[in-house]
Amino acid sequence: MGNMDVYRAEDLEILKEKINLIEVVSSYVSLKSTGNVYKGICPFHEEKTPSFIIQKGEAYYHCFGCGAHGDAITFLMNYMQMRFVEAVETLAERFHVPLRGVVKEEQANADFRKKDLKEVLLTAAQFYHYYLLHSEEGGHALAYLYERGLDLNFLSLFTIGFAPKNNQIFVGFMQKHRFSFRLLEAAGLIHTFESRQKKVFFSNRVTLPILDSNGSVIGFSARKISEEVFGPKYINSPETCLFKKARTLYGMSFSRRRIAKERRVIIVEGQIDALRLIQEGFTFTVAGQGTAMNMGQIQELLNLGITQVYLALDGDEAGSIAAYKIGNLFQNEGVEVYVVSMPIDKDPDTILREKGPQFFVELLKNASDYLHFVLKHLSKDHTISSPAQKTRLFHVIAKQIRSWKHPLMVHESLRKLTKLMQIPQHIVDVEQKEEWSSIYVKREGSLFAVDVDPRRILEIDLLRWLFLAGKSMPIVTKLIKAHLESKHFSIEICRRFFSLYIEKLEQQESIDFLTIANNLESAEEQLVFSEIIQKRVNIQRAEKGVVETINKLLEYHWMEEREKIKVQIQSGRCSEEEILCLAKRFDAMKTAIPRVYK
Ligand SMILES: [Zn+2]
Repeated sequence: MGNMDVYRAEDLEILKEKINLIEVVSSYVSLKSTGNVYKGICPFHEEKTPSFIIQKGEAYYHCFGCGAHGDAITFLMNYMQMRFVEAVETLAERFHVPLRGVVKEEQANADFRKKDLKEVLLTAAQFYHYYLLHSEEGGHALAYLYERGLDLNFLSLFTIGFAPKNNQIFVGFMQKHRFSFRLLEAAGLIHTFESRQKKVFFSNRVTLPILDSNGSVIGFSARKISEEVFGPKYINSPETCLFKKARTLYGMSFSRRRIAKERRVIIVEGQIDALRLIQEGFTFTVAGQGTAMNMGQIQELLNLGITQVYLALDGDEAGSIAAYKIGNLFQNEGVEVYVVSMPIDKDPDTILREKGPQFFVELLKNASDYLHFVLKHLSKDHTISSPAQKTRLFHVIAKQIRSWKHPLMVHESLRKLTKLMQIPQHIVDVEQKEEWSSIYVKREGSLFAVDVDPRRILEIDLLRWLFLAGKSMPIVTKLIKAHLESKHFSIEICRRFFSLYIEKLEQQESIDFLTIANNLESAEEQLVFSEIIQKRVNIQRAEKGVVETINKLLEYHWMEEREKIKVQIQSGRCSEEEILCLAKRFDAMKTAIPRVYK
């Protein structure tokens, strides 16, 4: 969440006034109005009769079926799987509220609003698309695309275009639309050299728009179709304040929702492959940057809660090496990887064209799990005819497995590997003994990271219940108010959030996320806040979960209090009488661990 902005309170206040929840929700869910009440089929649970309602003029939606409850921000976070910041910015854009970041956007880009950049990029996409369909030069590209089996329907659906060879055609068009050079440059469409000479970024290439989660164009990927064009097969827009290479996955805007829902994703190499799969209904597909994937992209997918990854990379040596590397990155994070075995020299696009979607379904079904794949992949270099060679290969793979972060994944995979390779279990057992210690060393290392502090996790959990379930389940708020005070929180920011919320509650003010966000003072607070509200809570479990969390927090506080008394007694600064008194309190506390009463 690198470039977190801290917004100005005035701006958020204006935004809050302007948000029209019905307008936001109805772009995703169809709502019917009966008087002042809008009803629809709840997008958060399966149902046939609508129990999802919004009162006209209210800032909240509510579902009587599953208890889903929230405002425009939670809606975008839960339904579109946006981050807090993304949701705020989406709303700001939609309701035309400029958000001035207190932490400024980098570079010259800061002069332009994201809205202006998106406008220029959309115009460029439309221009390229028009040029593909209606120019002589575009006609050649079109013939090439048709030959690859991309029909008009497909090209229009994804606004695929062609950037003319002659730069002046593009520049002239954009100038006629009164877009300045500086704006074009900020959008990554032209580049100025030090010699002040200008160059159009995309020329003589097929253009594929890259979209953000709202479907706005934020950049392009461009493919050359003739060998004489300079540069690699694909080039992408340069980094701008909209387009962050390290986080962008092609096809994500179409696939995000289903990836989050089904917690699985198909990863392919080429942008065209991704689009083709999406068109055929595999709407949980993305493409990385060719055969490479970086941690930012992996993190984007992990944020959507994925548990399974299907790698459908090209059926050549490069694809195989990439599957080995990318697969390892996901396994490391505890995600199950399946490698789709693609016919030699075929990519998903060709396969879908030649054999149809059902064949691809079969490929997915028959995909081998990561260990099977690794064994096959590495056996190419290691002959395993002799026991010694076999053991050597076993060690290579076992070492790789042990480098993964998830102890359970490591454990299960080692067991599977011994079975696969028919290695006697005791060989692994011996090795594991040595290796367990190294696993723990690693775990210990990560303890320095704040997010493994168990008490911090509890405090954030508690606030999450309060913020996300408190409104739809009054019992949650009641339990928390009856048992906890700010002194029970050890993390400064959590304590502040808690007091703030309770204070507003007592003043009977309406509390929504923007109100809370308005009171945030630092980027760190916004970070913790989005950590709190980013995850979903299970309303059915709310009461039990809250009681458990309260009990643990009470226990922590209780242990701390006892510890304080002990330290006081041992300090040597108390009189006999005081010590006696303290000891009595200490003993009395022993039998009275605070618990939730109902
Ligand atoms: Zn519902």
